[in-house]
Amino acid sequence: MTVAAIGLGSNDGDAAGHVRAAFARLSELGNLVARSALYRSPPWGVVDQAPFVNAAALLDTALSPRELLAALQRIEREAGRVPTYRWGPRVLDLDILAYGDQRVDEPDLVIPHAHLGERAFALVPLASIDPGFAAQRDALPPGERAAVVELAPQ
Ligand code: AMP
Repeated sequence: MTVAAIGLGSNDGDAAGHVRAAFARLSELGNLVARSALYRSPPWGVVDQAPFVNAAALLDTALSPRELLAALQRIEREAGRVPTYRWGPRVLDLDILAYGDQRVDEPDLVIPHAHLGERAFALVPLASIDPGFAAQRDALPPGERAAVVELAPQ
């Protein structure tokens, strides 16, 4: 079993609902040892779209990195995700941010996630449940960190 860090995001329809439902689906893939609060973050890449709801989870799983990627992509599809343009609106985005201490460097799978170090929307939720990422979060520009706002529990 290995603890994987998963990033969750949605900005289409009931974004908070999609992220909450995804937590439930993740728990089918292993032992969900931690889940962060939900955060609102500004759209990224293509800025003319709705804000995102983001969160992070720690999943203790027997799945290999590639099996985990396939499982996450299945959950995205079943949530109703359809391909749009790059960085466009999405019903659900699930990323493997880390997989224990392992590194994977393949064309379609890079772990730790290639852009983790520059993404406040991933690092702020993740560091809230795994202090091992606090230094990376704290290295982000303060304005970018502050733009990722914890949502009141509902
Ligand atoms: P996205 O549009 O963000 O869902 O990106 C999906 C693509 O990123 C897929 O084709 C994956 O194969 C690729 N990818 C590479 N590394 C990762 C990772 N660590 N977690 C999830 N997807 C990844």
